[in-house]
Amino acid sequence: MENSESLILQVAIDTPLRRVFDYLAPLHAAAASAGATDGPRPQPGVRVRVPFGRSTKLGIVVALADRSALPRAKLKRAHEIIDREPLFDPVGFELLRWAADYYHHPIGEVFAAALPVALREGRAAQERTVLWELTALGLSETESPSDRRAPTQRALLAHLAVNGPRTTAECAGEFDPAIIRAVAARGWIRERPQTALPAGAALGVAPVLRSSSIELTDAQRVAVDAIVGSGTRFAVHLLHGVTGSGKTEVYLRAIAGLIGERGQALVLVPEISLTPQLVQRFRDRFDSAPAIMHSGLAAGERLDAWRRARSGEARIVIGTRSAVFAPLPRLALIVVDEEHDPSYKQHEGFRYSARDLAVARARRANVAIVLGSATPSLESLENAAQGRYVKLTLPERPGAARAARMRLVDLRRHAVDHGFSQPAIAAIATHLAAGAQVIVFQNRRGYAPTLYCAACGWVATCAHCDARLTVHRHPAVLRCHHCGAQRAPASHCEACGRDLHPVGHGTERIEETLARLFPGHAVARLDRDTVATRGAIDALLARVRCGDARILVGTQMLTKGHDFPEIGLVVILDADQGLFATDYRAAERLAQTIIQVAGRAGRGARPGEVLIQTEFPDHPLLRLLIDAGYEAFAAQALAERRAARWPPYARLALLRADAKDPARVDTFLRAAARLAPSSLLGGDRGVNVLGPANALLARRADRHRAHLLIEAGDRSALHRFLGDWLPQVENLPAPHGLRWSLDVDPLEVD
Ligand code: ADP
Ligand code: ZN
Repeated sequence: MENSESLILQVAIDTPLRRVFDYLAPLHAAAASAGATDGPRPQPGVRVRVPFGRSTKLGIVVALADRSALPRAKLKRAHEIIDREPLFDPVGFELLRWAADYYHHPIGEVFAAALPVALREGRAAQERTVLWELTALGLSETESPSDRRAPTQRALLAHLAVNGPRTTAECAGEFDPAIIRAVAARGWIRERPQTALPAGAALGVAPVLRSSSIELTDAQRVAVDAIVGSGTRFAVHLLHGVTGSGKTEVYLRAIAGLIGERGQALVLVPEISLTPQLVQRFRDRFDSAPAIMHSGLAAGERLDAWRRARSGEARIVIGTRSAVFAPLPRLALIVVDEEHDPSYKQHEGFRYSARDLAVARARRANVAIVLGSATPSLESLENAAQGRYVKLTLPERPGAARAARMRLVDLRRHAVDHGFSQPAIAAIATHLAAGAQVIVFQNRRGYAPTLYCAACGWVATCAHCDARLTVHRHPAVLRCHHCGAQRAPASHCEACGRDLHPVGHGTERIEETLARLFPGHAVARLDRDTVATRGAIDALLARVRCGDARILVGTQMLTKGHDFPEIGLVVILDADQGLFATDYRAAERLAQTIIQVAGRAGRGARPGEVLIQTEFPDHPLLRLLIDAGYEAFAAQALAERRAARWPPYARLALLRADAKDPARVDTFLRAAARLAPSSLLGGDRGVNVLGPANALLARRADRHRAHLLIEAGDRSALHRFLGDWLPQVENLPAPHGLRWSLDVDPLEVD
């Protein structure tokens, strides 16, 4: 920079605008950059405080420049550079810039999503450790004391004279903080000016994997060797291990093998609170504690984990979605557990896929990544088939445990009592009598999904959404599961005054039925209503693990990798909810759910059994899944996707819009569709813009929702199209009260 006074900072600021903002560097910083002072130097990745509109904001410097498109007189000067060192490691920083580009999302919001709140609010990136040293006055005082009073103060002086500069914490063992302050007040000691440690400078000791009695199976050994063997090269390993096959053991050994003396490992999990077992296994087996990152942490805890990752002190970081952005200057391996899990995709704001970004990060960092699952996503299977991923298979459970036997129960041929077929009731009784525990899966919380008048057909619906109200009993309310609205329970029809009936079975009702059918066997219920807090989940899972609860009923939360050895039977009450859904991914989700829930049975010495209730026992999807297994199902589902040109054989983006007035949504989306550059449209590899179409739930919380679907032959075609089109959409006059967003690689076309 020739003229340091006009050094320009390109700053990412947390606003919905897809651009960076130019500022003049603060004067002292410009001087530092020119080498004139040793203040914080502006460099990409540091935080900066800038004037923004009428307020002040924190931003991230993304680049330095010596000119701006704006005339110099219009540029404002940044107030202050906050950090001496970039917040991110170089790969993590590049990943964020790339992600903003790939998802066509405002870069300021991307950086905001990647940082703990405390850092966005200006807290220091490093814990401030104060180092105390003797002043000249203090030194002469030790040599020729002016008097003999205050012996403790003199002892502190002697201590520093002998040992050299010490931190407050190091002095604290022998000296009260009040003593330190008193000595400092006499001018005998002072804080030594600290220079910031670069990321990775405080690398923790290499964690040692404690030996265990577990001897790897052949398949596990092959997997570990392949992962460790890929060394410091980028390689994606798709670890397809059936439920209970010991994937965690593979992760542990691969990490131990790859982080060595200087490396760090990142382990992504779908939901930490639901799978305390995985974290516990890492704690038990490694001799140093992993840093844990998830959304349930208090701001200070989160910052602390972030700092430990950045300094290198934490050699293993376990976290949910946003941990993919953790600063890891010594990254050596990434593990994504349950890679198919939808919770890796952020559903609002910056809609990234942590699984996909993890692969992108591994590529940039040139390290291995393991994607583990019993039910890999179709796109990962396709990547393996294409040779882009290395497929590793754990085909069976180790030791005595065997895969559970799956059986369909035809709901049309058996008497049904409140959702339970006679064969299911008989099987539950048998397993309970044999001392086994039982899981009942129903992906619907509440008491009943519908409140219905048999006389006139009236149904209780939400006043704000196109949806029915769910009946809840404890507490007794009618609640909308889409907008949260609730009303007092009704017993008489609003239309004709006759009695109302709850129809269908939510988990609350299932729990009630189980208590009636199997008195004397304690039932535990796992859904968002029973485990609103972290502690409640732990307590409930503990009740199941210790055997207190004999029957566990729950929703999707049951699918998340729980390892309870005494579960003998799993009953899936209603497999049909997903069979006829319109979304292209519904079949994949249903198959994954069935296999994952089924995988909770028979994990110990006890043989497992799975009953799947359905009214469509001949449905080809169910048959294939039960008779031939997940892989056969996946092959079939992929063939269908290819024929219909759905992902992974096409790339999608969804432009969603919502407003109170449906006409505004429609007008906006039509105008956006008309802006599509015609040169990029159509053809086999070209782009198609479909819609506007209403969302499945066309009205939610009084807002009308619709979308345009953008479909392209491949990634680069989609990217080119969006790069051309979005800036024009941004310039459309936005109708009053309308919100819109773009979702690249949407999980659902809705
Ligand atoms: P997954 O994650 O594949 O569902 P887990 O890692 O939870 O499976 O392992 C299931 C159980 O098998 C755990 O209790 C684990 O300790 C045990 N296990 C793993 N590998 C072995 C092995 N090689 N021999 C014996 N038991 C094992
Ligand atoms: Zn509602």
